[in-house]
Amino acid sequence: MTARILAVANQKGGVGKTTTSVNLAGGLASAGKRVLLIDLDPQGNATMGSGIDKRGLQSSVYQVLLGLTTVQAVRQKSESGGYDLVPANRELAGAEVEMVGLDNRETRLKSALAAIAADYDFILLDCPPALNLLTLNGLVAADAVMIPMQCEYYALEGLSDLVETIRKVRKHLNPRLEIEGLLRTMYDPRNSLAQQVSEQLQQHFGDKLYATIIPRNVRLAEAPSYGAPAVNLDKACKGSQAYIALTDELLLRSAAALA
Ligand code: ATP
Ligand code: MG
Repeated sequence: MTARILAVANQKGGVGKTTTSVNLAGGLASAGKRVLLIDLDPQGNATMGSGIDKRGLQSSVYQVLLGLTTVQAVRQKSESGGYDLVPANRELAGAEVEMVGLDNRETRLKSALAAIAADYDFILLDCPPALNLLTLNGLVAADAVMIPMQCEYYALEGLSDLVETIRKVRKHLNPRLEIEGLLRTMYDPRNSLAQQVSEQLQQHFGDKLYATIIPRNVRLAEAPSYGAPAVNLDKACKGSQAYIALTDELLLRSAAALA
């Protein structure tokens, strides 16, 4: 068995990619799965949110992408999360430029993961808020994309750029790439616009939309300051309950995808 690789991506900033990556990693680990989370964002939020200090890193995903080291050498255990992490920090911002001149610049992450894919059940890729070479490496390495989004007026517009990019990646670089699902995040049921956008998403994407909706919940926003996924800090809060339900939904979908 080899890991199912999921890219958590949306070029729009602040839609809940990292919160989803970290809590899904924690949720899957609590469900007994072997999980590796890869921070593909120079902001290093998934690294900090997993309790690993991005400022003191010996090496990171940056060196992996440049072919200077391996995933085996760079991965660390997130004690608070119960999963392994390949960390990132600001250094990664340089990779974008440095990789342009290298061979196979879009397939570097994919190649690096081949050696360790059998060690895990799931590998999650927390992508940066851009359709850049880092996100492209994520989409090329992945089996499927999970798209977190807020139910806002412009959400659908941004989505069509992402869907178009996924279509191009499928055509040229990774024919097996699927859309795993769209996830409604930071949802406020009292907001009537959010309800309307949510209904539109339902019509457009049908069962590609996760039934689980992540509510706006302050515990989810506080958890990174403790360096741990909310699902491990406070399992009972509404946000954690939603991410645990999402974990279950993902496990069902993955089982169906493998069947
Ligand atoms: P970026 O594009 O910058 O990487 P992102 O898409 O990874 O952002 P997050 O960092 O997960 O988004 O979330 C953005 C902010 O919203 C963070 O401060 C986070 O703690 C907060 N947040 C995320 N999800 C929720 C939620 N369901 N309820 C309340 N706050 C949330
Ligand atoms: Mg993020």
